[in-house]
Amino acid sequence: MPHRVLVADDLSAEGVRILREAGLEVDVKVGLPAAELAAIIGDYDGLAVRSATKVTAQLLERATRLKVVGRAGVGVDNVDLEAATRRGVVVMNTPGGSSVTVAELTVAHVLALARHLPQATASVKAGRWEKRRFQGRELAGKTLGVVGIGNIGSVVVARCRALEMDVVAYDPFISADAAARLGVTLVPLEELWSRADVVSLHVPLTEQTRNLVDAAVLRKLKPGALLVNCARGGLVDEAALAEALAEGRLGGAALDVFEREPPPPDHPLLKSDRFICTPHIGASTEEAQSAVAVAIAGQLAAYLARGEVKNAVNLPSVPVEALERLGPYLDLAGRLGSLAAQLGAGPGGMEEVKVEFAGELSGAPQRALTARVLRGLFQHFVEAPVNEVNAPGLARERGVAVREERSADPEDYVSLLTVRVRGERGEVVVSGTVFGRKEPRVVRVNQFRLNAEPEGHLVICENDDAPGVVGNLGVTLGDAGVNIARISLARADDRSAAFSLLNVDAPATPELLERLRTLPHVRSVRAARL
Ligand code: NAD
Repeated sequence: MPHRVLVADDLSAEGVRILREAGLEVDVKVGLPAAELAAIIGDYDGLAVRSATKVTAQLLERATRLKVVGRAGVGVDNVDLEAATRRGVVVMNTPGGSSVTVAELTVAHVLALARHLPQATASVKAGRWEKRRFQGRELAGKTLGVVGIGNIGSVVVARCRALEMDVVAYDPFISADAAARLGVTLVPLEELWSRADVVSLHVPLTEQTRNLVDAAVLRKLKPGALLVNCARGGLVDEAALAEALAEGRLGGAALDVFEREPPPPDHPLLKSDRFICTPHIGASTEEAQSAVAVAIAGQLAAYLARGEVKNAVNLPSVPVEALERLGPYLDLAGRLGSLAAQLGAGPGGMEEVKVEFAGELSGAPQRALTARVLRGLFQHFVEAPVNEVNAPGLARERGVAVREERSADPEDYVSLLTVRVRGERGEVVVSGTVFGRKEPRVVRVNQFRLNAEPEGHLVICENDDAPGVVGNLGVTLGDAGVNIARISLARADDRSAAFSLLNVDAPATPELLERLRTLPHVRSVRAARL
């Protein structure tokens, strides 16, 4: 009997044709109420959706035959991934399907800013002919600074190089080799801000990238620089941007995305003549909509016909028996990867991730642990959901080498897992172990040996080995109402530096972190969440 697929959201005709040509029996029933969908879902092996259909735990309970859910697009917020995984249903998405489309809008905004297209159009339509007012500038020979060179950023790079722009980029999760193949020079973020004539953002919204462009950064940009954000609302401090435009420090800014969408009518940016915008239409072209439909149809067909998995976001990759034995170490591996990312992994462009297994772990299935490390690490850099299945491929695509090494000597521990993330400008090292078979501990961060719980909100501080630092940290956190649950201290063997990792009950705000950084003897402060 052929497999049956239900197309529950609008999928282009091309997508449906691909499913049928693959020998699948396809029903297209768009916009069914939840109860009707639940009543028929039991008849299908595959389900194709966009963002409208909610694939809830209740629906999945009725989906007794269902093997795969295909989401045409990136976000899978409308699918209950945990419930799907529990029921052995693979969920797939289509990362990258709209990259060209979003990149083209970005380039359109850059050109529109450089030549004042929207303002000039409005002026002519209002009966004026203001040639001098709309004198623009050439892009050729100017420097574009791209923050984030993933799927979309890398297409923007290629398009802007064709416009004869020089391109510099900042992206912690790409090797210098891979960047060179794209024709960009990786530079530290500070250098990008000061060198770029045009800045374009292409990063996901994470704790690290929220308000990436704030008042302080806006002051660092070249006078007259142009700023474009076709990525995510929240990357740019919109009030600070409005101020920079009003003061004439920036030449112009273009947003496709806002912190609140739609922006309120009295939003200060909407009053600025140097500001242009679009209503979050980055991915809205016929071609992109069709591309993601074609991609998901191909993936569904390949899975149902041949069991081939592509872009799965929820595959359990470890056999159940191994899971029981390895469970606490898998969890530790993910936490170490995540901690390395939040400690600034791969300074200056990630080159290599090395996972070292020592003691009892040297005989464990390393691939599963490595995949978990990579997932923990990469989830901080990549927009699409990262899992053990796609993480190794993401590393390959970005020219990041992944190595595994066994060693017999676990130092003072029964087992020791070490993650080293090397970049052009140094290395981040974290090690951990599991106490009593279920208590994960971080026992090393770079040169420091400690005993810390990798759990919840953390404040991580490097300082001079001087008296009073910990007291000051405690008082400053206390004044801000942030309770410290646990402090782990360490110092370098030669006492050239000291280190504290504080488990706190609430996240430290960016302002609080700034205050901590100004305390005497404090060298650096980071917040992390595990
Ligand atoms: P991607 O995951 O392929 O690339 C993101 C890149 O950002 C990665 O290479 C990552 O290493 C880098 N990155 C992560 N954190 C960083 C940091 N702190 N500093 C510098 N670089 C960092 O994602 P993508 O598909 O290229 O999407 C890029 C952005 O575009 C996302 O925010 C996505 O939501 C947005 N997007 C917008 C629209 C729209 O309609 N305007 C449509 C699709 C995607």
